[in-house]
Amino acid sequence: MTDSRPVVTRFAPSPTGYLHIGGARTALFNWLYARGRGGKFLLRIEDTDRTRSTPEATEAILKGLTWLGLDWDGEPVSQFEGRERHAEVAREMLANGTAYKCFSTPEEIEAFREAARAEGRSTLFLSPWRDSDPATHPDAPYVIRLRAPREGQTVVRDAVQGDVTFGNDQLDDMILLRSDGTPTYMHAVVVDDHDMGVTHIIRGDDHLTNAARQIQIYQAMGWEIPVFAHIPLIHGPDGKKLSKRHGAVGLHEYAASGYPAAAMRNYLARLGWSHGDDELFGDAQAKEWFDLSGIGKAPARLDFKKLEHVSGYHIAGMNDSDLMREIEGYLAETAAPALNAVQIARLTPALGALKAKAKTLPALLEQGHFALIERPVTVEEKAATSLDTVSRGILGELTAALQHVSWTRDDLEAATKEIGESHGLGLGKIAAPLRAALAGRSSTPSVFDMMLALGREETLARLQDHAG
Ligand code: GLU
Repeated sequence: MTDSRPVVTRFAPSPTGYLHIGGARTALFNWLYARGRGGKFLLRIEDTDRTRSTPEATEAILKGLTWLGLDWDGEPVSQFEGRERHAEVAREMLANGTAYKCFSTPEEIEAFREAARAEGRSTLFLSPWRDSDPATHPDAPYVIRLRAPREGQTVVRDAVQGDVTFGNDQLDDMILLRSDGTPTYMHAVVVDDHDMGVTHIIRGDDHLTNAARQIQIYQAMGWEIPVFAHIPLIHGPDGKKLSKRHGAVGLHEYAASGYPAAAMRNYLARLGWSHGDDELFGDAQAKEWFDLSGIGKAPARLDFKKLEHVSGYHIAGMNDSDLMREIEGYLAETAAPALNAVQIARLTPALGALKAKAKTLPALLEQGHFALIERPVTVEEKAATSLDTVSRGILGELTAALQHVSWTRDDLEAATKEIGESHGLGLGKIAAPLRAALAGRSSTPSVFDMMLALGREETLARLQDHAG
């Protein structure tokens, strides 16, 4: 463990499904840690298990990371591609005596375990080949096992969990290379992390026991042990281990719910890590603040209300072009049609008003509905009640009055007020038919925000459509 090496972190997902929200958070922590220190953030696809790994899953993971805005250095590394190297290291360990060939058959191992059970001994397999003379070795298939220390303890010096001690009598001589020459997962991870120069391993605490075993491999090879940081898993709002039952488990589900990526980064960063009472922040602050010492030992709970709050903050603070990109990404994610040029032209000027209130992108689009529809505007039943004869007459007068005013909020407001007053009606009263005519709804942004976004021609046409 030294602090002198430049920081290299990695995210090492197994490509067996989608990008889990917990995986996304692990990736984010590694990214923040590296990016905040001018280090490297690498990606390794742990595809050694050929039966469970699929290219589609790899694609989904890369897509998820990209959506979240986590860029990695270099090409993603395929663990499977490194199998020759993994075998080579296992042979090196044979040569340096830290590993040995084990010829025990699965039947023999089972028999050992049964006998151990019957005698009330530990069922951890003790291979008879550990101390055998190579001259006595049969010409038969063998696995390569680690000659693990039998005495003493292996300590994981964890940056989150503290020192976690494992009795070596609890850790068996694990297999490094199977009889078909393929590496085990445990062995491959260590070789890869070493070869990739990984200095900090930040991952879920379900890998804590693996760390003890992996440390034994580092020690056998005389390799520098990276800093480990095992982070508590994410729990559901009820405090139970996160499962499908809780709702969104895959990162793509959050994208499809319309939370902007920047908000997800902020929210996920706070899921298990803290910097004082800071709840709302951007990437620059997160990179500056993020440290392993801020990671808590207790499992973080998902809190959808908090997520909405964080999301609203980021939407409100986003500049229009970033927000437009987020909206386009959201529509693509939900397989909704992309916005056309007219819709973009009408929505963009309304973003200022819309983003101040919306907590999610679909909520923003819902309020921005008026900018996305075409004439003739269909009026919802509730809004239609405001279009009585008097109101229709007012819409007609307004259509005439707004022909020549300058298209500014002040002038639009003054002209509208004046016509209302001539009927003894305040702005509040004439807003309803205006909302109905312009948006077909009773809940909309302010009528002047809509007029400004729609422009004179479209506004007057929509008013005229419903004028009496
Ligand atoms: N491939 C492992 C997983 O997806 C991660 C291994 C590691 O980070 O060391 O859980």
